[in-house]
Amino acid sequence: MRRKLAAGNWKMNGTAASLSEVEALIAAHPSPGVEILLCPPATLVGRLAALKGQHSLMVGGQDCHAKASGAHTGDVAAAQLADAGATHVIVGHSERRADHGESDEAVADKARAAWSAGLVAVICLGETLAEREAGRTLEVVGRQLDASVPEGATGLNTVVAYEPVWAIGTGLTPTSEQIAEVHDFLRSRLSARLGADAAHVRLLYGGSVKASNAAEIFAIPEVDGALVGGASLRAADFSPIVKALE
Ligand code: PGA
Repeated sequence: MRRKLAAGNWKMNGTAASLSEVEALIAAHPSPGVEILLCPPATLVGRLAALKGQHSLMVGGQDCHAKASGAHTGDVAAAQLADAGATHVIVGHSERRADHGESDEAVADKARAAWSAGLVAVICLGETLAEREAGRTLEVVGRQLDASVPEGATGLNTVVAYEPVWAIGTGLTPTSEQIAEVHDFLRSRLSARLGADAAHVRLLYGGSVKASNAAEIFAIPEVDGALVGGASLRAADFSPIVKALE
């Protein structure tokens, strides 16, 4: 059985003042029926981990370097995130792929670095609008899955998030049929590569998930949860999404 996962990605948002939202989230979900992961900016990982104490809420980074340490000014190593209290790290988010030119191979290297530090890699992929309109969605996500998810992925070390680039931060979402088509495709492609381990890898949907569409998205059989951007910043927005998953 795959446990449901509600993951929040704060992106480049949040300061110490935002920790009150985490307190409110914890207060609203003292013992959640699903896994909750929050990925704040690196500056807040340690504070969030300290704040949550014994609560089951999990903390993650938003990116890590492929190397374990060294002369890489401004970057963060997976082991440093782990040291600060993270258990997960997002790799290959489309904003990293676009802003920093990260290739599928670079994303796979980061996923391996995450594993080496004992972190779960949340590996993101998804097509652009031009690719969808050209009928290339499955070709693109298939290539990204093959090249970004390294050999050795299991349900314990990897989560895959399908995030159509055109749905991120736009308020647009694919239809349930479109999400189901991609998730079914990713599941069978993973099975072909990983065999039995694939059945345990959770497949999240991400892109404009909010309280009003969460229940419909979570009703899709191969959707194991969501990676939520804008609606994860405030407990009042994220809590209903968690509830819809419970
Ligand atoms: P969004 O972002 O929920 O704000 O669309 C999702 C993401 O980028 O993970």
